Amino acid sequence: MRAVTFQAAGDVRVQDVPEPEILDPADAIVRIAASGVCGSDLHIYHGRVKIEPGFTIGHEYVGTVIAVGAAVADVAVGDRVLGCFQTACGRCFFCRRGWFHKCEHSRTFGHGATLGSLQGTQAEQALIPNADLVLRKVPEDMSDDVALFAGDVMGTGYHAVVDAGLRPGEVAAVLGLGPVGLCAVQAALAVGAAEVIAVDSVPERLAMAQSFGARAVHLSEGDPRAAAREVTDGRGVDVCIDAVGDPRALDLALRLTRQLGTVQAVGVYAERCEVHMGLVWIKALRLCSGHANVIGHVDSVLAMMSSGRLDPAPLVSNHMPLEDAPEAYSLYDRREALKIVLRP
Ligand SMILES: [Zn+2]
Ligand SMILES: [Zn+2]
Repeated sequence: MRAVTFQAAGDVRVQDVPEPEILDPADAIVRIAASGVCGSDLHIYHGRVKIEPGFTIGHEYVGTVIAVGAAVADVAVGDRVLGCFQTACGRCFFCRRGWFHKCEHSRTFGHGATLGSLQGTQAEQALIPNADLVLRKVPEDMSDDVALFAGDVMGTGYHAVVDAGLRPGEVAAVLGLGPVGLCAVQAALAVGAAEVIAVDSVPERLAMAQSFGARAVHLSEGDPRAAAREVTDGRGVDVCIDAVGDPRALDLALRLTRQLGTVQAVGVYAERCEVHMGLVWIKALRLCSGHANVIGHVDSVLAMMSSGRLDPAPLVSNHMPLEDAPEAYSLYDRREALKIVLRP
């Protein structure tokens, strides 16, 4: 079968690879109908996240079940499904507490040996371990484009908001309007934020956040701190989400947030960086971080997308055949696309 493989920094190829086979009674095999290109795929593309040459990449997917192991009960051959970007065992210390994102036996699709040697989903087929936990049936009238957000990007935007404890009537700010930031804007409004201040420097992304109901503020041409003060009687926002993963964004988040407020660093951090701990302490801020509990949230997110309360459809900027993956990656790398959906 055809699959998108990592070769070297800046070099992905579409190659013939072996078809997956059921290895465990809890496995399923999905014929992929659509797979997204994600910001974390770009970390692999840049060589920042190291994986083996020839490994299949991708972790956002929708498709049809074509085989199941004997222990799979909740999905069957022929079901149209979406899946989460990582697997979990369902039995360890963390899973028993519902913290599936920190499962001791978790594997992430398309991230090489360091994250469990699970081949990616930018391919004609994918092996899905623990299918009952990882897969969900797609509601009948939901498009592939929308469904594939449930298992990663919308799940992450939603997690950022609920993990931060945003309450109805509060004011949130979202820094960075990539796909996760834009989904966080929608999620914050959906759970009842009175106002969402959306900050970026790309005009199209600001316009999209505004169309979702946010107050869009340009990072440099506008004044995010003044905007935060203006809608909160000078206090600062209740929750600020850093969807960038850059120390400058984190610093701005600490400054925009009111005393006893929450800063949610959902953007990816891998390196040491400076945090103004004096500011955190004096304001008694709560700091949340880490990747999202997408398995824990997937049913809520799917229900809210099904009812239209969350709608990631406007984020899909390009559809491309799987064979054009090298072009898709360079397009995404040049920031000329928001969400590319590859179709085998
Ligand atoms: Zn992703
Ligand atoms: Zn576990």
